[in-house]
Amino acid sequence: MAAREVDFLLVGGGMASAHCASELRRRGADGSVLLAGRESEPPYERPPLSKEYLRGDAERETAFVNPAGWYEENDVELLTGVNVMSLDPNERTAKLQGGDEVSFGRALLATGAMVNILRVEGAENEGIHYLRAFGNSDAIRADAEAAEHVVLIGGSYIGTEVAASLTAKGVKCTILMMEDVALSRVFGENAGRWFHEMLEARGVTVHGGEELEAFEGDGRVKAVLTKSGRAIECDAVVVGAGVRPDAMLAQRAGLEVDDGVLCDSKLRSSAGGIYAAGDCCSYDSVVHGRRLRVEHWDVAMQQGIHAARNMLGDDRDYDVVPYFFSDLADWASLEYVGPAHDWDEEIWRGDRDAGEFSVWYLKDGRVAGALSVERSEDLAEARRLLAGGVDVSAARDQIADPDSDLSQLGA
Ligand SMILES: Cc1cc2nc3c(=O)[nH]c(=O)nc-3n(C[C@H](O)[C@H](O)[C@H](O)COP(=O)(O)OP(=O)(O)OC[C@H]3O[C@@H](n4cnc5c(N)ncnc54)[C@H](O)[C@@H]3O)c2cc1C
Repeated sequence: MAAREVDFLLVGGGMASAHCASELRRRGADGSVLLAGRESEPPYERPPLSKEYLRGDAERETAFVNPAGWYEENDVELLTGVNVMSLDPNERTAKLQGGDEVSFGRALLATGAMVNILRVEGAENEGIHYLRAFGNSDAIRADAEAAEHVVLIGGSYIGTEVAASLTAKGVKCTILMMEDVALSRVFGENAGRWFHEMLEARGVTVHGGEELEAFEGDGRVKAVLTKSGRAIECDAVVVGAGVRPDAMLAQRAGLEVDDGVLCDSKLRSSAGGIYAAGDCCSYDSVVHGRRLRVEHWDVAMQQGIHAARNMLGDDRDYDVVPYFFSDLADWASLEYVGPAHDWDEEIWRGDRDAGEFSVWYLKDGRVAGALSVERSEDLAEARRLLAGGVDVSAARDQIADPDSDLSQLGA
């Protein structure tokens, strides 16, 4: 017999759960809501951890999804520092750390993602950081204050954002990455080259085509060694080697899992009454016609909201085009809709030299993704055309003309 009952159990204390809780209350759900997260903080946004919070330009409180007091005022029971240890999808019960058992009507799995850890020689040295939580950002900041040189492993978002933030604070930074061009894995070599050159022009050293061999140190990291024989002395390291979905709880519970918690187009998992959202959710995208899992702040928010609505009976497909943003200090803001996994054509719109452009990624004449640097207005059109599957092959010149009005395209 379960000790207590809740109508909605939200597992994971991040963006997706917090927005699910907010939406349940906004929609007037009056059932009991329990949100359990293993971190000691209430749900917070992670983007500032590599940007304004890391630079010391924003207070911790500004990252919280809901203001202090919101959970109590809205009758949402928030358990921080509490792991959900197991789920029984048939009985609809969950065991919490500490031994409490909860029975639930509906549940959300929003367990997020875990960073990939590099297990090379010397990895036990102090001063080698990963970045996912407040504590990581605090530790990087503390180390960077005393550091002359920080090495970033990885040339994607975390590597480039942290390099930009620390360089802006006067710390010398070097990015080491396997790809030749920074940010090229998502945006391709042409657009990646723009960011790569911009980072170098701002003083970041970038070594592409390099693979990590080992860390050297005497208890504290002193150098990074690469397979090509390069040895880069440093005072600290930040690794941004990607993340993987945290689907461990779902897997133990016998839910279908494959690169995340498998969900249908309505964000329903393989177990009745259990939904998933955010970084851990691998769903059937009706927009893309394929399975999709993305690690974007906006997606975690939108999916948390969507799951809440479907829990309350909306029963709708999740059909939002994924949106991502990133800031490289105050040097450049980028936004992206997609994701375009492969494309056969790129159309550039705007002024590359002035840093105001968008890049349109086309596959078979249709928009598969679009990147904007200081041209947000283009993304609304790209998102619409992508969602509609509009054939834009006759409109290449129009898209390339930065002054053209795209609002009638495909109308
Ligand atoms: C440094 C950094 C910068 C980023 N910058 C950007 C950006 O600029 N733009 C962008 O779009 N995205 C960015 N992201 C990604 C974005 O933050 C994530 O996509 C988003 O946080 C995902 O939210 P989530 O709720 O799915 O998961 P999470 O935020 O990871 O939250 C999941 C929570 O669940 C907890 N949990 C896991 N298992 C259990 C369990 N069994 N019981 C209890 N709790 C559990 C975890 O500890 C975690 O606290 C960034 C991420 C990081 C780390």
